[in-house]
Amino acid sequence: MEGSKRQPLGVELVRRGIVSEKEVNDALEYQKTHRDIKLGEILKNTSSCDKAVLIEQIGDIIGEKGILINANDIEIDIEKYISLDVAKECKAVPFEIYSGKIRVCFSDTSNRAHIDKVRLILLNKGLVMDRYISFEENVVSILNMLEGDVSENIDINDDTVKLVDSIIKTAMSKRASDIHFEPMENKIRIRFRIDGELYTITEISNDKQPSIIGRLKSISNMYQEKQEDQDGRIVSYPAYNIRVSSQKNIYGEKFVLRLLKKNQNIKDLYELGFPKTEDVAKCFNKKNSITIMGAPTGEGKTTSLYSIVNYLNRPEINITTVEDPVEIRIDGINQIEIGAKSNFSSALRTILRQDPDIILVGEIRDKETAEISLQAGQTGHYVLSTIHTIDAIEVITRLRKLGISNYDIASTLATTVSQRLVRKLCPKCAKERDFNEEELKAISMIEEKYGIKFDLKDKKTYDAVGCEFCNHIGYIDRIAMFEILKVDEKIKELISNDESPLTIKKEALQSGYVPLEIDGINKVISGITNMKELNKKLILY
Ligand SMILES: [Zn+2]
Repeated sequence: MEGSKRQPLGVELVRRGIVSEKEVNDALEYQKTHRDIKLGEILKNTSSCDKAVLIEQIGDIIGEKGILINANDIEIDIEKYISLDVAKECKAVPFEIYSGKIRVCFSDTSNRAHIDKVRLILLNKGLVMDRYISFEENVVSILNMLEGDVSENIDINDDTVKLVDSIIKTAMSKRASDIHFEPMENKIRIRFRIDGELYTITEISNDKQPSIIGRLKSISNMYQEKQEDQDGRIVSYPAYNIRVSSQKNIYGEKFVLRLLKKNQNIKDLYELGFPKTEDVAKCFNKKNSITIMGAPTGEGKTTSLYSIVNYLNRPEINITTVEDPVEIRIDGINQIEIGAKSNFSSALRTILRQDPDIILVGEIRDKETAEISLQAGQTGHYVLSTIHTIDAIEVITRLRKLGISNYDIASTLATTVSQRLVRKLCPKCAKERDFNEEELKAISMIEEKYGIKFDLKDKKTYDAVGCEFCNHIGYIDRIAMFEILKVDEKIKELISNDESPLTIKKEALQSGYVPLEIDGINKVISGITNMKELNKKLILY
């Protein structure tokens, strides 16, 4: 922040009632021995005021837009717009594109040279810059994270064997589900996917590319010489199954490592976020029928199915699964992994001769698998499967599109479920506040849409902040929002009559179907997540 405004800044902040006179005097006293630290920066750490309000007011006083920025506010890939070197030199963080402008946060808006430099770079890319100011500490922490300081365990100067090992182990310790090794023009970028989001962890100079690729291929049992796309596995980490895939791009070979923890505890369905108001036993224990989970990829369908299977698992019943691949092993269950030469439908035919009570079919991808699955459901079995759709009602549409008759759907479908994963706020650092106008408007739109009322009295919401515990992300772990369609007599009739999804939805709403949006808002109101997370998945505002 601007040096010459130090004294008036403090006075003005006191006048506006943001900080006390004593706090300013203490900060000025401290500054005498720490001349390079700005007043706002000191007050941020010593005063009891709200940090977001503080930076907004500081901004207002010096004629800038102040914003409290954190790593989780970054909606864009910063390095797509400015290089890390420029970002560090100018202490600038592009964080959002809004109304055709790119919002960039600086730690010092008085440095014209820095501002002009960033402005011109962006202008050359056809983007007009919208300037913001934030605390230096926040800006630097985001830039450090980009640079890879977050992965204190990774030393890019290590020899290749050690380096690859430390990248994999760091990913495990940070609960990452995937590691990306991405060759770019001058470097290899390493990114981790944590709770569904990709984070740049570090960058390695390009001269190491051949040795890193060699090492990855050797531990994944891939052909060294082949440059075509390959699949492999790493088995040297006993607690994990690691699937590896390589793909050639213009700068080299890109590797993605998918980490699956072995012996993973199967969570209770309620723990995964299943609404407490629903009875698991009643939803998922029906002979002569099929239950289908419909959701986009990566929304936790399989995890939920495992949880249901685990719940239904008893010694006296025969449960068989056919999966691609087997992700979690469950005791007492026959799990079949379909290989390159078989497929779901051929494996299913074999299974049906083995007298199963319950069958889990990993995914319905084609008409044949759909037909056999439904037939199995009609002939004394209970079938569980997944299908790629956006919600529970759309499962019906999808089956129709695959060529399944309305009669077969109506007579066999028992329940359809949909879900979306949202990140859970970190319990150690989430910051309480009132719902803002935008959020309340979005909530009331859902109230109107479904003719319901949420109880918002005395309810607060939370912003993600970031602390040591959550790797400075502000969120930790995920929870699912669910919706469940119980295919009762009335719904069966509508399906048989070839009624539209809309008509079916209207009827379902009458008989207690709770759409994803409502379950999501309930989870926001109970403080598990916030509207920002919800909006990423459901686009409410
Ligand atoms: Zn935290």
